[in-house]
Amino acid sequence: MKALVCYDRAPGCMELRDLPEPEMADDEMLVEVAFAGICGSDLKLYHGNHPHATPPIVPGHEFSGTIARVGSAIKKFRPGDRITGLGKVYPEGTVVGDDDNINSPSGTKVAGLHMDGAFARYLTMKERFALKLPDEVSLRAAAVCEPLGIALNAVMERARLQPFHRVLVSGPGPVGLLVVQVARLYGAEVMVAGTSVDEGRLALARTLGATETIDVQKQDLADAVASFTGGQGMDAAFECAGAAGSVNNCLASLRWYGQHVQIGTFPAGKQVEVLLNHVLFKELTISGVYGHVWSYWAKGLRLLSQHRVSTEAVASHTFPLSRWQEAFDVAERREGVKVLITPED
Ligand SMILES: [Zn+2]
Repeated sequence: MKALVCYDRAPGCMELRDLPEPEMADDEMLVEVAFAGICGSDLKLYHGNHPHATPPIVPGHEFSGTIARVGSAIKKFRPGDRITGLGKVYPEGTVVGDDDNINSPSGTKVAGLHMDGAFARYLTMKERFALKLPDEVSLRAAAVCEPLGIALNAVMERARLQPFHRVLVSGPGPVGLLVVQVARLYGAEVMVAGTSVDEGRLALARTLGATETIDVQKQDLADAVASFTGGQGMDAAFECAGAAGSVNNCLASLRWYGQHVQIGTFPAGKQVEVLLNHVLFKELTISGVYGHVWSYWAKGLRLLSQHRVSTEAVASHTFPLSRWQEAFDVAERREGVKVLITPED
C-alpha cells in the first residue's frame, strides 16, 4: 500500500513509500482510511521540529475510515462499520470509559508519533479506541473529530465558560473555529483575532457564529476589546495560533480573574516572552490543552449528528495521498483551514 513515511528527524524527511499492508493482531482491526487531517503537529514533524517523533513512522492521527477486517477477539465491530478513532493507545490496564477524563497517561502511544498513523490506505487499531459513526455523521466530518475534542476540552474543562461570557479566540485555524462554535453553544459572545493572511478564515469565523472579527495588523486589538466588552475585558481567551504576540494579546485582553487557555503549540525548545504582570495584576489563570479527552468523543459525535457543530465547515481542502506535498504546502500557507488527505486517487 502507498503510505507517507517520516523517515528521519531532520527537516523535510518525508516521502511516499510502498509499504506492506499492516499486520493485524487478534485484538485489532484493519481500518481502510477514508480521510486523514493534517494537523499543525504533522507540519512540525515535517520540519523536524516535533519533540516526540520516533521515525520511521507513518504520520496522521486525525482520521475516519471503514473497517476492512477484524481480528478474532473483536466483539463490537464488523467489516463495513464506519468509524473514527482516538489516534492513541493508552497503556495496558488503563480504564477508558465515558466518564474518564484522562488525556495522556504516561506510556500512551500516539498514532503518527509512536505507531503508524493514517496517511496510508490502511492502519490497525484496537476496538476500545474506536467509535462507530452515527448515520448522520459523514466520514469527512468524522475526520475532524479530534480537533473538536480539543475544542470541547478547552471550552468545557479548562475555561469553564459560563453562559454569556465574552471571549477572545486568537488564531482562526481549525481548532480556533471549533472553539468559536462550542463557545457559541454556551451563549458566549466571541471575538476572533487573526492577521492579514487569515482574511478568509475570519470571514468563515463570522459565518460560524463569531460576533466580531479583527485583523490585528490593521486594527487596534485593545480598542476593539474595550468596545466589545464595555471596558471590562474578556472573560476568557483561547490562544490557538502558537505565536508570542498572540499570547500577549490574549493576556492583555483579559479582565480581572480572566482565564487564558493555551492551545497553540510552539516549536520544540522555543522560549516565549510574555508580560507576566498581566497575570499578576489581574490575577489571571493560565491553563493548557494538549489533545482531547476520551469522554468528549461521544459528546462531539452527538453534537455533529445533531448538526449543532460543523466540522465539515472547517474541512476546506481534500488531496489524494499522491499529492501530499501540495496538501502540506496549502496547510502551511494557511490557505485553507483543515486540509484532508484521502488514499483514493
Ligand atoms: Zn492534532
